[in-house]
Amino acid sequence: MLPLKFSIQRARNLKALKPSIFALRSSYYFSTGVVEPSSSLRSPPRVPNLIGGKFVDSQSSSTIDVINPATQEVVSQLPDIDKLAMNITTEQGKTLKDAHGDVFRGLEVVEHACGMATLQMGEYVPNVANGIDTFSIREPLGVCAGICPFNFPAMIPLWMFPVAVTCGNTFVLKPSEKDPGASIILAELAMEAGLPNGVLNIVHGTNDVVNAICDDDDIRAISFVGSNTAGMHIYSRASAKGKRVQSNMGAKNHAIVLPDANTDATLNALVAAGFGAAGQRCMALSTVVFVGDSHSWENKLVELAKSLKVNAGTEPDVDLGPVISKQAKERVCKLIQSGVESGARLLLDGRNIVVPGYKDGNFIGPTILSGVTADMDCYKEEIFGPVLLCMKADSFEEAIHIVNRNKYGNGSSLFTASGAAARKFQTEIEAGQVGINVPIPVPLPFFSFTGSKASFAGDLNFYGKAGVNFYTQIKTITQQWKDLPGGSGVSLAMPTSQ
Ligand code: NAD
Repeated sequence: MLPLKFSIQRARNLKALKPSIFALRSSYYFSTGVVEPSSSLRSPPRVPNLIGGKFVDSQSSSTIDVINPATQEVVSQLPDIDKLAMNITTEQGKTLKDAHGDVFRGLEVVEHACGMATLQMGEYVPNVANGIDTFSIREPLGVCAGICPFNFPAMIPLWMFPVAVTCGNTFVLKPSEKDPGASIILAELAMEAGLPNGVLNIVHGTNDVVNAICDDDDIRAISFVGSNTAGMHIYSRASAKGKRVQSNMGAKNHAIVLPDANTDATLNALVAAGFGAAGQRCMALSTVVFVGDSHSWENKLVELAKSLKVNAGTEPDVDLGPVISKQAKERVCKLIQSGVESGARLLLDGRNIVVPGYKDGNFIGPTILSGVTADMDCYKEEIFGPVLLCMKADSFEEAIHIVNRNKYGNGSSLFTASGAAARKFQTEIEAGQVGINVPIPVPLPFFSFTGSKASFAGDLNFYGKAGVNFYTQIKTITQQWKDLPGGSGVSLAMPTSQ
């Protein structure tokens, strides 16, 4: 726990700083070239903490191995390369192209945060009463913290610390223990770009470190992204300590397909959003509700999914890599089996896939279950693997009802050629991020990431205006500048504006 304590102290001792947003901007232009994977390393380096601007070895005698999901080899306990995308692929398993997307979507937030001067502008009303002006300003909170999941090792840290530090806060980042390397590389780049020492700090670990972050009196706000189990625990523990918490959690995103939709474009979108990143995206489309005749498109869907190439993320032309761990693979396979046992039809089974050269990898091929119903475990639980569930509805209304009954509300998409249907959908659907002929409707950072229902706890979302509000405290100032009349006596009545 010592590194955490030091890093919080260091962060607290700094006066709230306004790092140069122009310096930060230059971090946008780094390259993510390809180098040899570090998976063959015999004795992997230890991932250091970052405290007060120095990378320091942890004092802990225990370590957590970072495992390459394609080979089971210990990649590193921190990579010593500067190649972000390759690091993501070797630690997380996603394809290199997808890893570049991971970085790119995060850099969009950095770019947005570069406009912080205008984003955090307050409000001013002159002469609200005779000689009195009122204005509001947004001030930094102090020390903020972020706790990250494994599935976007670059994008999710970049949802957090660039916004927090440009608002004037210091930050303690706890990356996922499964793929911490990208956070370290990002921190190096931020410091190279001019971020003052101690503004961004990184601590590694699991539950104990997270609990210490929740309990620490100096930390004022926590950003969390991950599962519901961890997210609700952190939300209640940290809120009980009076902290602000924004908690982005699990999902079960549905697509509704109407028969008038463009068949090929819709099927391409379903396959990309269902199986991309091996289904390990919180905005993956994991359930399709076919309305009426569109149900007959299932066969074509299977053919398209069969054509996808499963391999290690570093291989050329690969579509999906392995899932993050052996335990994750076991869990996904168990949920597929439970679907079969409760009556779903397995149209495509990826469980026994063999990937030449990577016999130990956690690979699961694209899997499609049809005839899924809302009472099945495979439907009720987030699978977080390359598994697409197909349901059927007789009418558009029934399909909307199915989606709205689901407890999650991260995202939902409609595929149609009808403007009237699209308008009905955007009005009636109970999900925080809505796509119309767009499979993964993650907004650009001038909007916010607006998951709802069980997919989010808190009331200020990540990035966008809400993100700025989350990391700042509003202060409202009322000032009077006029020649004050003397001799009018003391009035104890409630002051009114006149
Ligand atoms: P996870 O909850 O297992 O881990 C996330 C973080 O919480 C890690 O840093 C981990 O160390 C910590 N943690 C885990 N269990 C904890 C506990 N009991 N107490 C304290 N800390 C704990 O999540 P994951 O497997 O890394 O990520 C996958 C999940 O994240 C999925 O549910 C996915 O939907 C979700 N996710 C959501 C979003 C979103 O924006 N809604 C984005 C990405 C991922």
